[in-house]
Amino acid sequence: MSQQLKTMGVVGAGGAGFPTYVKASARVDTYLANGAECEPLVHKDVELMQQYPGEIASGMARMMELTGATCGKFGVKEKNARAVEALRPHLASRSIELLLMGDFYPAGDEYELVYLATGRLIPPAGLPLQVGCAVNNVETLYNVERAMQGQPVVDKFLTVAGLVKRPSSFWVPIGTSFREVLARAGGTSTDDFALMISGVMMGKICFDLDEVVTKTTGALIALPRDHSLIRRETTSNEAQRRIGKSACDQCSYCTEMCPRYLLGYEIQPHKVMRSLGFNKTGAELWNPWAELCCSCGLCTLYACPEDLYPREACEDAKSDMRAANYKFKQEAPVRVHPMKEGRRVPLKLLRRRLKLEAYESEAPFDPAPTKPARVRIKLSQHVGQPARPVVSPGQRVERGQRIATVTETELGVDLHASIAGHVSSITSDFVEIGAENA
Ligand code: SF4
Ligand code: SF4
Repeated sequence: MSQQLKTMGVVGAGGAGFPTYVKASARVDTYLANGAECEPLVHKDVELMQQYPGEIASGMARMMELTGATCGKFGVKEKNARAVEALRPHLASRSIELLLMGDFYPAGDEYELVYLATGRLIPPAGLPLQVGCAVNNVETLYNVERAMQGQPVVDKFLTVAGLVKRPSSFWVPIGTSFREVLARAGGTSTDDFALMISGVMMGKICFDLDEVVTKTTGALIALPRDHSLIRRETTSNEAQRRIGKSACDQCSYCTEMCPRYLLGYEIQPHKVMRSLGFNKTGAELWNPWAELCCSCGLCTLYACPEDLYPREACEDAKSDMRAANYKFKQEAPVRVHPMKEGRRVPLKLLRRRLKLEAYESEAPFDPAPTKPARVRIKLSQHVGQPARPVVSPGQRVERGQRIATVTETELGVDLHASIAGHVSSITSDFVEIGAENA
């Protein structure tokens, strides 16, 4: 059955893109559904849970059966009462427990969720599997259920928010351009905007409207170009380092608010900031304090009173360590910080700090279909080997038809046409399909 997930193209839809058939082949005692959704302005998982509770619960039951898990827990925020009530009967009938969570960031981090659900602490830099757990995002579970019914992954569910006229959540064929996705949400109220892809905390900035939706795109958030978040995202790495070197006063707020530090991992971004003072040698003394950073962004975007860039310093430090083939190993036991609960960051405060309150709104499900004129399906949109095309230019394809594949032994999944039409172009990066009636 797990092979079916590979041929139907199921990967982690929450952003990781890890092939789901690998998780389905593992043995665990506890299966966790991640419906925590804590990126500001993103509401697609909430809408999905309201619309498809039966499919999601059924997908989870299938994963529990495949992995031998005897305990299932479903994490969802208590504030999302409609989603909770929609899920409740479907979970109860399958003996899956509801795990009601507070409205904090980052509640959906796997380390946090595993600890909250089981009291187990994942080994430093480890995986949930090492403590007998597996975690899947709710959209992935929906895709698992569909795959088991023979339906490949061809659409992506996402939220479009910010400066658009109709903030909403809807399905789009994979490979649809950002331009067409924004138009589907009524267009933007100004031309002077930038996009944050999949979230403002952990997502990436984008100015290219010809970029396309992949299996891991969770949201498009349009913000004014002069918004402080966009200004910070577009500050050059060199300027970030220069400002950090001269302005960091080692107050250590970044460390004291770091969720991984509070869970007991040896991550201390204020010490990593000291590495900015070195050019040729010396930084390696401080870089190891970055190894266990998960790039949640809280230190840079919430904690630092000077608006510095400790997350980015951690990312640079990790890349330096990779280049030097050095891997830090935490020897001390992981012990939860006594102040952990008191230092949680409520979403409301986070939105205020990020100056996003004006853009917060519901993003209701819009059932109308999205009909792009063409789609560009990337051959590499999952962890592992890129898929190899099995179609030719000019060939007619049906929606759902396999267009690219990986071998049985390669890590990766097959890709499928997300619209019916003709293959208009094949490159080393993508297969492009023009819609039949465009
Ligand atoms: S919070 Fe900012 S100023 Fe304080 S130690 Fe961290 S980076 Fe430096
Ligand atoms: S981004 Fe900052 S707050 Fe988040 S895990 Fe890394 S160091 Fe900690």
